[in-house]
Amino acid sequence: MSYKKGEFLYEGKAKTIYSVLSDENFVWLEFKNSLTAFNAQKKGEFEGKGKINLEITNHIFKYLQSNDIKTHWVQEMSESEVVCQKLSIIPLEVVVRNITAGSLAKKFNLKEGVQLKKPLVEFFYKKDELGDPFISDEQALVLGFVESQKTLDDLKSRALKINELLIQFFDKCEISLVDFKLEFGFDLKNNILLADEITPDSCRLWNKKTGEKMDKDRFRQDLGLVKESYEEILLKIQQNWSL
Ligand code: UDP
Repeated sequence: MSYKKGEFLYEGKAKTIYSVLSDENFVWLEFKNSLTAFNAQKKGEFEGKGKINLEITNHIFKYLQSNDIKTHWVQEMSESEVVCQKLSIIPLEVVVRNITAGSLAKKFNLKEGVQLKKPLVEFFYKKDELGDPFISDEQALVLGFVESQKTLDDLKSRALKINELLIQFFDKCEISLVDFKLEFGFDLKNNILLADEITPDSCRLWNKKTGEKMDKDRFRQDLGLVKESYEEILLKIQQNWSL
């Protein structure tokens, strides 16, 4: 299938979105080199980041698809561009955690790096102006961000299944999957599909041998070697998983 890039639709923090000419069912995503943290208060970029994140997502989404997880990913158009199915995005960020870190550690004053007794799924309301606040099931339902408890339960069970698959995926690369964020949306037939990206921007990934952080925390916490860490993740994936 040949797609043509259409008009500019929207500029996000890490991607720019265009329409696909004469096809309403798809969108054209361009992965940017920019990097933001703390609700875009901290900004940076590095050469090649868009390419690396697209390639990491491409590997992971193909792996998930081969394990019956439906995603919006359709076709790569260049090193930093991809055509995806157009979805109506559910305004919830679905976070899964295996090990304490980030906002969970801060909120409950926990030490980082402690294995949770089971994976924890949390919802955050996707709204930059509000700093993506935590949202309970009740709040999501009563405020009408999702239609039913069934949808919330479906999101949780999909997220847990994806977690199991990603733990195995990264285990082979000798990387610990600490936590990550997912986004989902509805296609035209009302099927729920996994959307957005899975990258070191959206996951916490620690080197199993050394414990070193290999993800966006290197940028958030000024640890240096940001580009090198993203490159290392891609390399480990390429060495351990063929497409
Ligand atoms: N995350 C994300 N986008 C967000 C918020 C969080 O991709 O807008 C990811 C983050 O990189 C981490 C996980 O979701 O892997 C859990 O994030 P947390 O709630 O700890 O928030 P943070 O510490 O990133 O503010």
